Amino acid sequence: MRVVLMGPPGSGKGTQAEQLVSRFQMKHLSSGDIFRQTRASGSDLADKLAEYMDAGKLIPDEIVVEMMAKAIASADGPGGLLLDGFPRTVAQAEALDEQLAQANTPLDAIVLLTCDDATIIGRITGRRSCPSCGKVYHVTFMPPANEGVCDTCGTELTQRDDDTESVVSQRLDAYRNQTEPVLAYYKAKTELKMIEADGRDDPKAICQEIAEALA
Ligand code: AMP
Repeated sequence: MRVVLMGPPGSGKGTQAEQLVSRFQMKHLSSGDIFRQTRASGSDLADKLAEYMDAGKLIPDEIVVEMMAKAIASADGPGGLLLDGFPRTVAQAEALDEQLAQANTPLDAIVLLTCDDATIIGRITGRRSCPSCGKVYHVTFMPPANEGVCDTCGTELTQRDDDTESVVSQRLDAYRNQTEPVLAYYKAKTELKMIEADGRDDPKAICQEIAEALA
């Protein structure tokens, strides 16, 4: 099964991805995680990626398509593939379709998480994560036992550079202008299952709803 998980930043894609991949044994590919890792590795592309990511803008399609095509070509789990954060433009969606058609492994479903702007901004600006083990917290909704320190490994928590209020509003603009047209592109493909869930609901209930719709 090959699924694309869509939704604005802060709608809960990361949380759902974690639960769905463990439930269905899928390989999870998050484009944001891939770009953050590439930046951290100090590759030649690091400065260019940082320029776009820190401004809340989308990285140019040529770079995204090449990097994601490589990741997809070498990724598969027994339950298939869950794409999270990719594609984010119609050009990326077309490139993905072409790659999957050549491999004879087309998409099966699109999962869309919806969320309002006020909830998104509250969630994102309060988000903190552990740079060592990757565990994600929220200063109000899911605080660590000791303020500012990871429960699991004791490392000091950090805020993503692009999780500030001004950058979030740029990221929301990018979603509306460049990513919402991807939804229209997929809705026109009648062979695809479209599953929509309210990203404000309880994460376990959302996962159950999505899992039932995918089955
Ligand atoms: P995310 O963690 O998915 O919110 O992504 C963080 C940042 O990485 C985004 O704000 C973009 O700058 C960049 N990014 C991630 N995925 C894509 C994509 N498919 N196309 C363009 N830029 C992306």
